[in-house]
Amino acid sequence: MPIYEYRCRDCGHRFEILQRLGQGAEDLECPRCTARQLDKQCSTFASGSGGPAQSGASPASCGPGSGFT
Ligand SMILES: [Zn+2]
Repeated sequence: MPIYEYRCRDCGHRFEILQRLGQGAEDLECPRCTARQLDKQCSTFASGSGGPAQSGASPASCGPGSGFT
């Protein structure tokens, strides 16, 4: 499952999203300021920090539907 990194254009906050294929970015928003203007980064460092493979494994996990608001 691909991990995408997004950067908020508003506050500059960077976060990673575990995104399924076919899932658009329309519903994504910055976990910090809830802005929806996000720049998609080309993330290929899934092995860098272990990766939030499991929901709740990382406090920074903020995927949609995780109940993290
Ligand atoms: Zn933001």
